Amino acid sequence: METDYIVPIGPDGIFEIKTGTWRTVDPRIDQSSCVRCGACLMYCPVGAVTREGEVFRIDLEYCKGCGICANECPKGAITMEGRESA
Ligand code: SF4
Ligand code: SF4
Repeated sequence: METDYIVPIGPDGIFEIKTGTWRTVDPRIDQSSCVRCGACLMYCPVGAVTREGEVFRIDLEYCKGCGICANECPKGAITMEGRESA
């Protein structure tokens, strides 16, 4: 459902917000530095981090670019970089 609301519930019901549209910077995971601890997945407020086998990935459709994952990563494996053009 298309909406102008900034929260996922309103008079019309519950709906999905593509929080990736809020992002101005993109997180990048350096897979060679990642130790698979899962902190990024646990702390991401929008559930944009997923684990595929031994690899953690970030879904940019929902990542809002808050940088929490980068702050919480114990290995500094996540950097926030300028946004790609859409
Ligand atoms: S927090 Fe950092 S080290 Fe841990 S899984 Fe995420 S990217 Fe890897
Ligand atoms: S930048 Fe924020 S929203 Fe995006 S993956 Fe990291 S914690 Fe989640």
